[in-house]
Amino acid sequence: MKTRFSNSYLSLPEQFYQRVSPTPVEAPAFVALNEPLAEELGLDSSSLRSPEWLAVFAGNRVPEGAQPVALAYSGHQFGHFVPLLGDGRAVLIGELTTPQGLLFDLQLKGSGRTPYSRRGDGRAALGPMLREYIIGEALHHLGIPATRTLAVVASGEVVVRERPLPGGIQSRIAQSHIRIGTFQYASERGDRSALAALADYVIARHYPELVGGEDRYFELARSIFSRQARLVAQWMHVGFIHGVMNTDNVAVSGESIDFGPCAFMNRYDPDTVFSSIDRDGRYAFGMQPTIIQWNLTRLVEALVPLFGTDENTAVARAQELVDGFPALFTEAWYGGMRAKLGLCGDDDGDNELIKQLLEGMYAARVDYTNTFRALSGDAHFSVPAALNDWRVLWDSRIDPTRNGRSREESLRAMRCVNPAVIARNHLVENALKEAVDNQNLSIIHQLVNALRDPYTPQSDYGSPPSDDHDQGYRTFCGT
Ligand code: AMP
Ligand code: MG
Repeated sequence: MKTRFSNSYLSLPEQFYQRVSPTPVEAPAFVALNEPLAEELGLDSSSLRSPEWLAVFAGNRVPEGAQPVALAYSGHQFGHFVPLLGDGRAVLIGELTTPQGLLFDLQLKGSGRTPYSRRGDGRAALGPMLREYIIGEALHHLGIPATRTLAVVASGEVVVRERPLPGGIQSRIAQSHIRIGTFQYASERGDRSALAALADYVIARHYPELVGGEDRYFELARSIFSRQARLVAQWMHVGFIHGVMNTDNVAVSGESIDFGPCAFMNRYDPDTVFSSIDRDGRYAFGMQPTIIQWNLTRLVEALVPLFGTDENTAVARAQELVDGFPALFTEAWYGGMRAKLGLCGDDDGDNELIKQLLEGMYAARVDYTNTFRALSGDAHFSVPAALNDWRVLWDSRIDPTRNGRSREESLRAMRCVNPAVIARNHLVENALKEAVDNQNLSIIHQLVNALRDPYTPQSDYGSPPSDDHDQGYRTFCGT
């Protein structure tokens, strides 16, 4: 095995990590290997099926030259600050450099106890690790930045949750694993130079255009605000609910991360929550813009010591960023909604038209994804009759005289942004059940293949579940 791993994280002050090794497992076996991702990373997918790589993915073997670490971070969990979280069931093996020169972390999740495990067993169940695989592929192929899964192995061991479950280990690929919580951790310790070292590391790795700039820490915050505004807007465009938007689950790279109890909404309702642990709906679909702003406020609170020597000025600048967030988000969100409706140019009534559609969809309890797909002229779907009045307004808006392009062009563009296939709850649930309970992996592979081509209608994947199924559907964090 000639793959080289680096670990730039080791250049940070020692308080940010602890050296650890994954804990070996008895009888590892491949459950999934993400071949397209392997190719993108410049890894030869047939050699990844070797016993050597299986041992790496299982945590039974540390690749030569790799220096694995568990990362330290803090975080607000459901609004409550926890000063020390950290990788309690994950190990960063190292970084891989792609043939294009891009750097990615390879992290094992479910790889055993670390100094940050607290009372946890450091392990993960197979189902939730496969879930991250499915959803990561779904998001990525919808053009939404997301961590992805390179491999999932069954550990051959049992993990005890509400009931005994087969254990699994996920090999996760991310631009990095630095979270808002990592900055909170640095800030909590009151060590300004460590905080600056972390910020400079993030700038070099994710925002290289800011390197060396006089006001770079403030610009870093601004850039993270932009990426998060865009990311959450993109989730909203496709009906995605992250499910556990704690500050430790927000990556400063702008990738979706730790979307354990996530789900795609079927019927349009901003109050939709599927996560079993989100009893108050803090992370409901429609709350996500508010919550990301809340999380970003925690980020600037941590960064404020780097915003200048005069504290009052620094705080005022931080506040300005926070106050500007709603406008940033609204712009990103309307931009995507306009594309979903094929709108070109600017028309005074556009925002109102978009709002009216959502109100109509809510009142008529219709499927979010399929309504947009039907409007796009996809004959597999039909526009709900309840939207007929609205449709007259929209039809006149996309008339060539007002929209500057033919109707057919508008519809074609819409079919490139409105998915026909999303990772619907009942599809994911069925694929996981077959894989975990019946050792039948074919369903999961078929589903992932469908999700890799989301703009092409595929007959088995278009229908929403019955209302009954959706009402009772609950997702779990997998801890
Ligand atoms: P998560 O909900 O997966 O984002 O995890 C929140 C925190 O709990 C992180 O610090 C995890 O490392 C830790 N954690 C979750 N599950 C376990 C587990 N089974 N063993 C040890 N730590 C865990
Ligand atoms: Mg997490």
